[in-house]
Amino acid sequence: MRPPIQPLLTAAEIQARVNALADAITPRLQPDVVMITLLTGAFVFAADLARALSARGVPVCLDFMILSSYGSGTTSSGSITTRLDCRQELTGRQVLLVDDILDTGTTLDFAKRLILAKGSSQLLTCVLLDKPSRRKVPVEAEFVGFRVPDLFVVGYGIDYNEMYRELPYVATLAAP
Ligand code: 5GP
Ligand code: MG
Repeated sequence: MRPPIQPLLTAAEIQARVNALADAITPRLQPDVVMITLLTGAFVFAADLARALSARGVPVCLDFMILSSYGSGTTSSGSITTRLDCRQELTGRQVLLVDDILDTGTTLDFAKRLILAKGSSQLLTCVLLDKPSRRKVPVEAEFVGFRVPDLFVVGYGIDYNEMYRELPYVATLAAP
């Protein structure tokens, strides 16, 4: 069943923030940058961000990774596996890592280590949402769309049991 949701960030707020992020990221990018998006949650954000970068004259090479943490439910567990690795050669290249939510930090920390181990010469990270109060691993993103409180969010690519990814805005699951 689809639990009720409550809007948190409107589509217009998100689009304005994506444009501001692209303004901030553009001067930091090198010509050969690889933008690596963590699927599935970040796919909508990445699509908008890539087009906003393109509108600013920045060509990006797009690649993807799927990481999964053991267990399911509404929080991620500590151990992570690579279910889909990126295909680009990263040695000596700048990487812009894009994820949907920086929560405990486990996922981003794992992804950053993996990318650096592949020889990336410079790594920048960009997340749509940051929940700083939930951090367990000391990791930060250079670019953050919105800082949000400890709420379970859906929409704009982010799911609850594969529901709500299609929403053009971000919502929270309403309290039961
Ligand atoms: P971390 O490894 O930082 O604890 O978790 C990051 C990942 O957990 C996110 O990329 C996302 O997949 C998932 N996650 C964290 N908070 C939420 C949330 O509020 N809603 C959903 N759907 N996933 C979340
Ligand atoms: Mg994720």
